[in-house]
Amino acid sequence: MHEMSIAVAMVEQVTEATGDVGSGTVSAVRLQLGELSGVVPDSLHFCFSLACTGTALEGSELLVDHVPGRARCLPCGAQWATGMPPQLCCPRCEGGRAELVSGRELQIVGVRWSGDEPRADARPESVPANEES
Ligand SMILES: [Zn+2]
Repeated sequence: MHEMSIAVAMVEQVTEATGDVGSGTVSAVRLQLGELSGVVPDSLHFCFSLACTGTALEGSELLVDHVPGRARCLPCGAQWATGMPPQLCCPRCEGGRAELVSGRELQIVGVRWSGDEPRADARPESVPANEES
């Protein structure tokens, strides 16, 4: 199952970044999820709660920031919302050379700790991050 392997990878990323901190330490994980990532949010929520069992993330909440799909036309520079399934033909010049600007995100952008201020935010570009603490 696609979402299950993603959920397991997310839990591994967070536990690697936080170290051995005991169960129930993480209260929420924030995820950027692109419209075109192919992930079903309901299914991911379900798999995430299973994957968290017995880890520092047990009982934590999955917060999803939905990122709409957007494309940009290379020849004329127009940008538009792609929708799903994605429309990649330029609505202005009808050119076929477009690049995706956003919509394929699947990354952890923050971790919230139980009974504490947020203090460990993964860097948007790469996870796992924050290996200092
Ligand atoms: Zn165009």
